[in-house]
Amino acid sequence: MVVICTILQVVTKRNSRSIGKKNLRQITGSIVSSVALIIISHLPVVAAASQVAPPIHIQINTPDHIGLPTSIRIVNNGLATAIIILPDDVSNQLELSAKILQSYIEKSSGARLPIRLKHLNNLQPNNKKVKIWIGFNPTTGKSKRRADWEQLDDDGFLILFHGNYDIFICGKTNWGTKFGVYHFLETYLGVRWLLPGPDGEYVPKLETVDVPKEDIWENPSFIQRRIGGLRGKWQTEWAYYNRMHKRAKYGHNLYNVIPPAIYSESHPEFFPLVNGKRLIPTEDERNKWQPCFTASGIVEAAVKNICRYFKMHPDEIFFSLGANHTTKWCECDKCRLLDSGGKNYLGLEDYSDRYFTWANQVVERVLKKYPDKWFGALAHANLAEPPKTVSVHPRIIPFITYERLKWVREDIEEEGKKVTEAWANKCSVVGWYDYIYGTPYCLPRIYFHQMAKYYRYGHSKNVKYMAVEAFPNWGEGPKYYLSLRLQWDPYLNVDQLLTEWYEAAVGKEAAPYLAVYYKKWERFWTERIPKSDWYTKKGAYLPFKNPHYLDIVTYDDISESRRLLETVLNKAVSKEQVARATILLRAFEYYEASAISYLGIVLKKKLPDKSDEYYKAMNRKRYELIEEFRRDPILIHPIAFDEKNFPEYRW
Ligand SMILES: [Zn+2]
Repeated sequence: MVVICTILQVVTKRNSRSIGKKNLRQITGSIVSSVALIIISHLPVVAAASQVAPPIHIQINTPDHIGLPTSIRIVNNGLATAIIILPDDVSNQLELSAKILQSYIEKSSGARLPIRLKHLNNLQPNNKKVKIWIGFNPTTGKSKRRADWEQLDDDGFLILFHGNYDIFICGKTNWGTKFGVYHFLETYLGVRWLLPGPDGEYVPKLETVDVPKEDIWENPSFIQRRIGGLRGKWQTEWAYYNRMHKRAKYGHNLYNVIPPAIYSESHPEFFPLVNGKRLIPTEDERNKWQPCFTASGIVEAAVKNICRYFKMHPDEIFFSLGANHTTKWCECDKCRLLDSGGKNYLGLEDYSDRYFTWANQVVERVLKKYPDKWFGALAHANLAEPPKTVSVHPRIIPFITYERLKWVREDIEEEGKKVTEAWANKCSVVGWYDYIYGTPYCLPRIYFHQMAKYYRYGHSKNVKYMAVEAFPNWGEGPKYYLSLRLQWDPYLNVDQLLTEWYEAAVGKEAAPYLAVYYKKWERFWTERIPKSDWYTKKGAYLPFKNPHYLDIVTYDDISESRRLLETVLNKAVSKEQVARATILLRAFEYYEASAISYLGIVLKKKLPDKSDEYYKAMNRKRYELIEEFRRDPILIHPIAFDEKNFPEYRW
C-alpha cells in the first residue's frame, strides 16, 4: 500500500537535468568498565500499542544491589555460570531474542547458557543461581524503578540487577526487550553488527564475562528509526540489530482512501477537475491524481473507508493520509478558494490549506470512533509547507521530505530550518523524510558529521520520526551504521563511533588508513561538491540521476583511495578483518572503474600513459561488477542501472 520510494521517481523526473559514546570495549578481563545509568529526558509522544500483552510481572524480595561483588559473572573460563529464563507462555519473538543472546554468548566465549521456562523449572529470583530473565517486569509499585518503567517507550528497555544473582532484560513490548538483548550483547560482550551478513559481525573472544551491577534505562531519541531500500535478509537483519523499527504509516495513500474503483461512477465529483474536465483515473493511474477535497460527501467517504480499515485491523495505530504522488491537483473554484495562492519554498503551488482543511475534518471524525489512532502525512511537493489559514490536527504527523546534505550550504540550511520550525510550531510532533542514497552514486557519499549535526537539530525541534531513503552501497562503510546509531541517540560522539567501527572492522593497525579514506570522501561531499556546478538548490534532493558530480573527481583522488584501501587490506590481521577489508576494496573497484572511465571517456581527460583501450576496459568493468554484485547479498546495488531510468549513467 505504501510506496514512499516512488516519490523519488516522479520528483526526479521533474528535477533532473540533462547530462552535461564510547570506545569499543575490549573486554578481556573479569571486570567490565561501568555502564552509566542512561536517562534520556525526551519521552515518547506517541504510545504505540504493545505487540503482545505486557511482560509477566515478577515479585522480587531481594533488595537491589546488595553487597559485593559489583558484577555478576555469566561465563567463567569458557563455562556457563548462568541460565536464561523465559516466561512459560513465551512468544516466538521473545524465544528468538533468548536464542540470539545464547548464540552470541556462545560465539564469544564457547559457553552455551541453557534456556529454561520459569515455572516448568520452578525458578525464583535469588536462589543462588545466576539468571538472566528475558521479558519479565521486576518493577513494583513501590520500587524506585517503577517510574522508569512507566516512562519506557515501546522500543525502550530496562536492564536491571537484583541482588547477586538476577539480571532482568525487559521492555514493555517484544521490540523493547529485543533491543535490550542487543544492547546487552554490545555493552557486556562488545558485539557489533558492522555490515550485513556473517562477515559483518564483530564478536570479541572472551573467556570470562562479568556484567557490572549498574541499571540501564534507555529510550530512543527518535520514536521511529528507518532506513529504506535494503535488499535481502542479511541487510534487513543487520538493520534490526542496529535498532531499526518502522512504526508509522505515511506513504502515498489517498488512492486507497477514495478508491477510483468504488467511486468513479457513483461520485465522479470526488476526482479532480483538470482543464475543465473531471479526471477519472484508471487503475494504472492510481497514484497520478489528487481528490477534489471540497466535493460534497468526500469527508464522509474517507471517514467510512478509514473506519472500515481500523475495524479490519484493530491493532493498527496508524493510517496514512499521504497525498498521492503527483502534482495534478483539482482546479475547481471551491478548492482554489482555500489555497494561499502562493508558491512554497520548492517553487510549487501551495495546496496545504485545502488538504489540511479536509484532513483535519476526516481525522476528527475517525477519532470519534477510534480515539487512539494517529495519521501520517507527507509534507512533500505541493504540501511542503504548513497551511496558512488552518491548523494541523494534533494527531497528524507530517513527514518533511528533504535531502539535508544540502544543508551544508548555509542559506539552504537556514531556509530548511525555517520550514522544519514552521511545521514544528504547528504540529504536536513532526517526522523527517531524508534521502541519503548510496546507489546510484559512483563515489562513496559520506557526510558523517553533517548527518549528526542535522539529526541533533531535528531532535531539538520535535522531530521524533525518521524515515531515511538509502538504497545502501556498503562501500560507504560505516554510513548506515552511523545513521541508525544516531537515530537512536543523535548526541553520541561521531568520532568515537567511527573509530570504534574502523577498529572493529579491520583492526587497530589498519583502522587509521580506513579513517583517512572515509575522511577524504567526507571532505569531497561537504567541501568540494557544494562549490560544484552539479550541486543545486533546486528540488527536495540532489539530482542523483545526473552523474556530473564526477566532473570534479581527480585521478589523484582515485589512486590515493586505492593506496589507502590496499594498505588497509595489508594491515588487516584476522580472517574476519581481511574479509571486511576485501568487501570495502571490492566495492571501491566499482567507484574506481566508474570515475576513471568517466574522466577518460566523458570528460576526455586522459592520462598520458593510458590508451583508449584502458578506458574502455574500465567502462566494461563497471558493468561486470554490477553483474557480479547482483549475486552478492552485501555488495548488490539496490537500484538497477537500466537504460530507461539511468540513461546518463551509460557512457
Ligand atoms: Zn476541487
